Amino acid sequence: MGLAIDLGVVLDALSVLAWTALPDGRVDFVNRHWRAYTGLDLAASSDSQWQNAVSADDRPGLLQQHAALLESQKPAEISARLRRFDGQLRWFVIHINPLHDADGQLVRWCATCTDVDDLQRAQAAAKQGELDLQSIVDSIPVPVTVTSPCGEVEGQNRLARDYFGKSYEELRSWRSDDVVHPDDLPATIAAHAASHANGTPYNVENRHRRADGVYRWFNVRGFPLRDRDGGIVRWFLLSIDIEDRKRAEITLAESERHLNETINALPALVWSARVDGTGEFYNQYYLDYLGRSLDEVRDYEWTKAVHPDDLPGLITAWNQIMESRMPGAAEARMRRHDGLYRWFLFRTSPLRDQHGNVVKWYGINIDIDDRKRAEEELRRSEAFLAEGQALARMGNFSWHADSGEIAWSEQLYHIFEFEPGSTVTLERIVARYHPEDVALATQVIEQLYRGDTDVESQYRLLMPDRSIKHLHLLAHRAADRPGRREYVGTVLDISQRRRSEEALDNARAELAHVSRVMSLGALTASIAHEVNQPLAGIVTNASTCLRMLAAVPPNLEGARETARRTIRDGNRAADVIARLRALFSRRSATIEAIDLGHTAREIIALMQHDLDRARVIVRTEFADGLPLVGGDRVQVQQVIMNLLRNAADAMNGVEDRPRRLWVRTEAEADGMVRLTVRDSGVGFDPRDVERLFDAFYTTKDDGMGIGLAVSRSIIESQSGRLWAATVGDGPGALFGFSIPVYRR
Ligand code: ADP
Repeated sequence: MGLAIDLGVVLDALSVLAWTALPDGRVDFVNRHWRAYTGLDLAASSDSQWQNAVSADDRPGLLQQHAALLESQKPAEISARLRRFDGQLRWFVIHINPLHDADGQLVRWCATCTDVDDLQRAQAAAKQGELDLQSIVDSIPVPVTVTSPCGEVEGQNRLARDYFGKSYEELRSWRSDDVVHPDDLPATIAAHAASHANGTPYNVENRHRRADGVYRWFNVRGFPLRDRDGGIVRWFLLSIDIEDRKRAEITLAESERHLNETINALPALVWSARVDGTGEFYNQYYLDYLGRSLDEVRDYEWTKAVHPDDLPGLITAWNQIMESRMPGAAEARMRRHDGLYRWFLFRTSPLRDQHGNVVKWYGINIDIDDRKRAEEELRRSEAFLAEGQALARMGNFSWHADSGEIAWSEQLYHIFEFEPGSTVTLERIVARYHPEDVALATQVIEQLYRGDTDVESQYRLLMPDRSIKHLHLLAHRAADRPGRREYVGTVLDISQRRRSEEALDNARAELAHVSRVMSLGALTASIAHEVNQPLAGIVTNASTCLRMLAAVPPNLEGARETARRTIRDGNRAADVIARLRALFSRRSATIEAIDLGHTAREIIALMQHDLDRARVIVRTEFADGLPLVGGDRVQVQQVIMNLLRNAADAMNGVEDRPRRLWVRTEAEADGMVRLTVRDSGVGFDPRDVERLFDAFYTTKDDGMGIGLAVSRSIIESQSGRLWAATVGDGPGALFGFSIPVYRR
């Protein structure tokens, strides 16, 4: 028992909680500290009651270990929280050791409980602190690597691990593998080494290889972490992703380069000038055009290339533009490297700062030489055209059926006497038409709307001063615009032509009359003859009659017969007079339906006596069923008479052959009827064929040379033609005319 006491004293002296227990685990001693801490004396701790001092949470684990301990009889160390007298729980490490006697028999269990609560807390706190640092690093939203003072990789955050896809141990070989882009590696190594040597922060931009092999740009910043004495403990390297910025930078650089190239390649002279107006920048094209270097054109040197005639105006314009501080333009010629001047359009705009102040001028000079020339050419040809149109009294126009838009030339305004440049409408045009021709206008408009290819019309305008204009319109549908009805056309003022035509007609009528009057002189002989012949007959017959009555016995039958002949001749004379009167009465041409054969017959009858006397044998060949022709009867008669007389004249000296004359009528294909007179006379030299129709051309001693000229004008005024021809198969000549079939 002495042992027990001794042990108790010893245990009491220890500054730990202690107790002893019997081999079966029943507690038989608690020391002073146990009692003081737990507030439990031996009685309250004996047997198994000590368990009440263990926290409920730790009790099951402890009891389990306790049981195993009793079984194994080996020393053990158990952690558990023990309740202090005031209820507070503190951590203890309980060492339980078996106590054996000299025979090795287990005699006691001896336990000490050491308070480790403060330590535990400190450890837990320390552990907690450690965790916080890692999580802080992990929560930095950029990859972070941690290196030792000498630059050895010692750790990384989660993002770095995710990005590189490597452990920090693997990252240690970054200097020799592909973690950093090979192009960036030398600079990175140098910067890294410098920072670690000097302890200065580290700042580089380089590309890091991502786990999937893609390189991205990073800005890596390294900061040293120092201890209290200023010694570097660690380096933290933060990698900030600048891929987007880099990309933007690269794109910007590229686009700048592109812009530069473009500006230099622009086929225009591009320049910039300072606020004071002096030249600053010139693109390559500019320099190449002038064949000068930048130095030779800077400031105001460029003005040396401007044409001396244009320079003062250009400088004035430039000063005005600068003063206005607004975009502007001017034109001037600039000398090319080869000495040739070309026209340029100088255009400039100011560049302003945010306060609106002009800080620079940008300019571009565009080569307008070809345009200038074309403009000049156009101006000239337009003036030419306008003059031509004025001379020809011709205007032109274009008309869009769909939009109704009408474009008029200057001359057309003049012809219609509209205010130049005023809007022209169909209504305005039609209002100018002569009331009798408005129907024509409607017809033309209908044709245009219908889309006819060519439209032609002649009509009159009734001008405000009641004068009349005759116009001829020609319009053609423009072919190059399918689906669009657009016409271009001309309008000719033919008033003057009309007036001269009328004058000519009058002159012709006059001439015809004169010719008739003049030929009257020439005809006097034949008229006298015409009348003399029956008169002579009358006189002869009358004397014969007297003689027969005076005979013894009077020859009454003979007298009666001669009296009858006298009457016949008298009638014939009267007839001749009547016909001549009809022929020479003055009147203007009136177109009527004429039977050409019948008319020819009449004339032959009228001239029969003459023809007989001239021993002319007349043959007629009048086609059957010929249509009537349109003409002036008396004038046509006169023409036929002329032709017959000429034919008779031509055969006057012919003695070696019959004096034959053929008069023939026949239809022509084109709605005309022809009459020909052919003789077997002296004929004419084919080279003179047209001279025959000249007025006063004659080969006869007593001729006037007017008959054929008048005849031709008569036939032509009746829309016909009169011609002459030599006869191929023998002597003689052929004269003929055709006039149109009569139309109501
Ligand atoms: P004129 O008979 O008064 O001289 P014309 O005008 O009738 O005037 O004829 C002009 C000329 O044409 C004639 O002088 C003549 O030389 C020629 N001529 C006209 N008819 C014939 C004809 N049938 N044969 C040959 N010559 C003709």
